[in-house]
Amino acid sequence: MTYRVTLIPGDGTGPELTAALDTVIAASGVPIAWQRHDAGAAVLERCGTALPDEVIASVRATKVAIKGPVTTPVGAGFRSVNVALRQALDLYACLRPARSLPGVPSRFSGIDLVVVRENTEDLYAGIEHQVTPEAAESIKIITRAASERIVRYAFEYARAHGRHKVTAVHKANIMKLTDGLFLRTAREVAGAYPDIEFDDRIVDNLCLQLVQTPERYDVLVAPNLYGDIVSDLCAGLIGGAGVAPGANIGADAAVFEAVHGSGPDIAGRDIVNPTAFLLSGVLMLEHLGEAAAAGRVYDAVAAVIAEGRRITRDLGGTAGTQEFAQAVADRL
Ligand code: NAD
Repeated sequence: MTYRVTLIPGDGTGPELTAALDTVIAASGVPIAWQRHDAGAAVLERCGTALPDEVIASVRATKVAIKGPVTTPVGAGFRSVNVALRQALDLYACLRPARSLPGVPSRFSGIDLVVVRENTEDLYAGIEHQVTPEAAESIKIITRAASERIVRYAFEYARAHGRHKVTAVHKANIMKLTDGLFLRTAREVAGAYPDIEFDDRIVDNLCLQLVQTPERYDVLVAPNLYGDIVSDLCAGLIGGAGVAPGANIGADAAVFEAVHGSGPDIAGRDIVNPTAFLLSGVLMLEHLGEAAAAGRVYDAVAAVIAEGRRITRDLGGTAGTQEFAQAVADRL
């Protein structure tokens, strides 16, 4: 069976990352027919929108997409393609695994954490207004429905991946209504999963503990803003955004992408580290039900990095992006 997957190369380093992924997926033996669609600034000039309807229609049809980074203008210009995709497809769960790879320079080792971030509400609803010229207000939305589905997702993920514990992240001591509702809902959902340990942490205390005793944690589930911050902290624990994969998952579709941006300063020079994008491809293979192939690709990436001969310069090597990908393909 050939899988149909929407491929959005993105811009900046996106096309180089896409070429690297193509090489590795071809070597994995998993048959994938890519449906290529552009999004971002170049498309805006051509089509009048940065995210044409045909891109969303393609993801709705294939149900799976992998996306390179897309440059978003700051302060003005078009809306983030990433945010627009998440909203259009109701990709409510942002999944960010953070697992140490021997050979990646980092202050920490042995990290194995997964952040499950709620992707649709909280302060990210963007409901803000100017009260007076000197004061502005932003409204934090937390609902039982969205809290329940994200916590349920975290427990289901834990069960499916042999994880033993889920920790709910909140600030319910201060935001008693909003975060209080999230925490109450998390406790209720936890009752349906007696096989998985459950606890909760106040977000500031969690951040402190993550850098002191990260081994105490396993799967972390959080509302949008805390999830955003904690997932970057976890990416920092494993050596930075260049090696951190991600996924945005909904009931009907999933979009896989690296945590990092489009790297305009290194684009077109064959030096971008493809690890985060290739590991996003690993998450995609798992999602397609190709767990064995996903494991093989992960192991091949890990082995190439551990060996250290054909790695990119941010990891201390001298290889180009495509040579790194070829090294992974050779291992496969
Ligand atoms: P960035 O992640 O693109 O770059 C930050 C620094 O890290 C740069 O020095 C870059 O060269 C380096 N870097 C990033 N990825 C790397 C990799 N894989 N290998 C080696 N070095 C790497 O972040 P930024 O500069 O803040 O953002 C650039 C653009 O990307 C912005 O327009 C931003 O909006 C966009 N962005 C897009 C996404 C996405 O599409 N998912 C995510 C974040 C940022």
